[in-house]
Order: sequence, then C-alpha cells, then structure tokens
Amino acid sequence: MARYIGPVCKVCRRESVKLFLKGDRCFSRCPIDKEGAAVPPGQHAHRRAGKPTEYGKRLREKQKARRFSGVLERQFRRYFAVAAHKKGNTGENLLRILETRLDNVVKRLGFATSPRTARQIVSHGLVLVNGKRVNIPSFQVKPGDTVALHEKLRSNLYLKRSLGNAVQRGIPSWLEWDGSISSAIKHASDDTTLDGVTLAGKIKTWPTREEMSFPINEQLIVELYSK
Ligand code: SF4
Repeated sequence: MARYIGPVCKVCRRESVKLFLKGDRCFSRCPIDKEGAAVPPGQHAHRRAGKPTEYGKRLREKQKARRFSGVLERQFRRYFAVAAHKKGNTGENLLRILETRLDNVVKRLGFATSPRTARQIVSHGLVLVNGKRVNIPSFQVKPGDTVALHEKLRSNLYLKRSLGNAVQRGIPSWLEWDGSISSAIKHASDDTTLDGVTLAGKIKTWPTREEMSFPINEQLIVELYSK
C-alpha cells in the first residue's frame, strides 16, 4: 500500500495552507503560523512564485485534497469517477467519499491525533467496524455503522491525550461518541485509566459540506478532471 512518507510540513508549505498533518503539534508549533514562513519549499521556490495559471489553480486544489486525505493519484481518480456517477454535486460527493474513509473517521472521532496515526491504527487491525476487525484505511463507513477501538489500545498513553483534545475541540455533528467517553475524559486526571469506557463512536448521518473538514474549493477539482 503506497503512501507519502516524507516530511509533512513541506506539504503544507507547498500548498500554502495548514493541512493539520501532524496532529496536536499543528495547533502549537506550526511553521505556517510564523510570519513569512508559508513559502513553498525548495531552494528556488521564489523563482516559481509567479501568478498561477487557471490550470495551476485547479491542480493545486486537487493536490491539496489529495494530500489532506493521504490518497495517491490513482485512487483519487477512482474516487472522482465514483463521485461523478453518483447523484448530486460531484465535488461534494468526492469530499464525502474522502471524509467517510475509515482512517479519517478514526481521526475525526479523536481516536488518533494525526492522519498518519489514524492510518496506522487501522492498518494494524486495531479498529472494529460493527464488531468486525477492518484493517483497510480506505474502507467506507456509512450511517448506522459503529467504529470501535480494540481493547489493546485501552492502555495507550496517547489515546487519552488525543481524546482529551477531542473533548475540548468537539467532534463533528455527523458523528457521536459512546456517552461514557466524554464524561470519563472531562473529569480525567493524569492517573485516570480508560477502564470501563466504551471506546466507540457511531456515524449518525452523511456529513454535509459544512461539516466536512476540507479547506478546499472542490469545484476546481471537478473542472480539472472534466477537461
Ligand atoms: Fe506542519 Fe501541521 Fe503546520 Fe502543516 S499544519 S505545517 S503539518 S505543523
């Protein structure tokens, strides 16, 4: 399964936008937040920084969507073909497919801080969908599905921290936690364990465009692929 394993801040700098690829660190120590740091990577980046063409704008938007969701080109094209065959707005359909990938749902439920961790948790077989182990990060979830973590993760140090941050920031309204998570985490101290907490969440409905986390103009992607 191919994936990008290079430095991720470089990707954000290339797209000149925060893609939140490093989890919690993106909220505290982000190079994009430093004044003048959001320049494309590379020694001769300033030479390339001209006015983008129409094609260039569309291409960048597609790259942004791809990188935000950790999908490679071939799979992204396949997603576009599926989105174009569905009823409704193609751009929105495409983002919905990306948003309802299992690795993204694991991240959005606060079970992992970064997309890489979410992908790793899934591919290591530590996620159950409707009680069955699923180790395919691109697995599509749908309303009514339950996503739960394997018991092995209960003692994981990062999980409590990640859930704590998610409780503070909140999760999207198309998802819901098992009730025991937020009450356990809200009153947690350093030595609180997650014993007795049901580490699971449910997909309530399909996400609407406003509820999806993509800082992207999807119409430009549709224009790029419709040429
Ligand atoms: Fe790096 Fe995160 Fe900032 Fe992107 S948003 S540049 S990944 S710290």
